Amino acid sequence: MMKETCAVCYGTGAVKCEVCGGSGEMPFTGLLDQECLKCKGSGRAVCRRCAGSGLTDVRPEPEVEAVLPEDGRG
Ligand SMILES: [Zn+2]
Ligand SMILES: [Zn+2]
Repeated sequence: MMKETCAVCYGTGAVKCEVCGGSGEMPFTGLLDQECLKCKGSGRAVCRRCAGSGLTDVRPEPEVEAVLPEDGRG
């Protein structure tokens, strides 16, 4: 199967942390500077589309995430 560079993380395998938005800090402010618990202050998260590999399988419909009831691969 062909592979191509992941269009979500551009092949880096990491994306911006969706909890802190890449800042590395928790979104709520006012008390103490709180490190983001999800990314542990790195501001990055593992790309879920390619599972951190940076490569995705080439599919005929890359923008549609449809769940097919049957698995008809031979
Ligand atoms: Zn990716
Ligand atoms: Zn974070």
